[in-house]
Amino acid sequence: MIKETLKAGEKPLPTPAEIVAKLDEYVIGQDSAKKILAVATYNQYKRVRFNLAEGGLEIKKSNVLMIGPTGSGKTYISQTLAKIFDIPFASISATELLSGENKIAPFIERALTNLVNDANGNIDLAEQGIVFIDEIDKVAKRGANIGVGESVQQQLLKVIEGFQFKLPDFEREIDTTNILFVFGGVFVGLDGIVYNRTGAALSLDDLFSKIETEDIVKFGMIPEFVGRVPTIITLKGLDTRALIKVLTKSKGSLVLQYKKMLEADGVELEFADDALIAIAEKAYALNTGARSLQGIMERIMREVMFKAPTEKGLVKVIITKAAVLEREEPIYEYDTIENDAPLTPIPPLPVHYLV
Ligand code: ADP
Repeated sequence: MIKETLKAGEKPLPTPAEIVAKLDEYVIGQDSAKKILAVATYNQYKRVRFNLAEGGLEIKKSNVLMIGPTGSGKTYISQTLAKIFDIPFASISATELLSGENKIAPFIERALTNLVNDANGNIDLAEQGIVFIDEIDKVAKRGANIGVGESVQQQLLKVIEGFQFKLPDFEREIDTTNILFVFGGVFVGLDGIVYNRTGAALSLDDLFSKIETEDIVKFGMIPEFVGRVPTIITLKGLDTRALIKVLTKSKGSLVLQYKKMLEADGVELEFADDALIAIAEKAYALNTGARSLQGIMERIMREVMFKAPTEKGLVKVIITKAAVLEREEPIYEYDTIENDAPLTPIPPLPVHYLV
């Protein structure tokens, strides 16, 4: 049995089952994605921590490509994985590669600097971190980007593979060999490519679950790139029911956050069931998954958050459906004594007590 080599302060590796259980606390749905990711990251960190790559045995790292609609949790899952493994995380959008001179150096410098900063300057730790590169589909060889896309992807290859990079603010170089690269993208139109290959008239989610590497190449990712990203995961769009769970059930959900914040002001916060449904339906209609929940909630809670700390006698706020849809005031409940409301006079003592 090969022993895990733990550096000072490192926790033992969680098993794939433990990783999924932990992801379940934060991420709603996406069950098959969670399982594949748990195995991929477990293998990745087994490879690093058990020094499996030493002694000539080459075990490839399992860089990940996540395909799924906006706001389905691509960034969030990657971030949560980093939290589970207690490793640094940095996120950057590949669209930055298309602007200006489309040079890889400043792009990767920004990503790695963020990673080292997230590791509090510890380069050893950063070398085991996760870099999430979003909107990778924007650098596909397609339309106006045929030339740029090809060159940008070519340049990315060596970074993914393993590359020594000198960051301006740090003394020593950082090596990207063991950094896990997770790529995210919506890949609009990929469903059509899968449909043309399979001829199957399926729902978008089902078509996405049948994606093969050849479809991604057809979309415009170069084969050398796809070859370095062996783990392909598809995420589903979140429906209204899932969005309600994101609001209420996920650890650190918006409803729990706002409840906690108001609790600090001594005010109880309640959301009527039909209000939660209305918020989720509103977000669903915006077509940006869970991303729009925060903005919707912020709008509803703005006035409440202003009032709560100073409104005399306020004990409870109930967010109603009308507060969500018609911008009506929520229900404010007051403690009548603290509110200086007229009190029922205390009756005088019976006369015999006085004698
Ligand atoms: P994407 O990267 O797919 O566009 P994000 O991961 O940025 O989406 O999601 C935006 C926010 O929505 C996250 O920060 C998280 O709070 C929430 N969110 C998205 N998907 C989920 C999910 N499946 N479960 C719980 N929260 C989610």
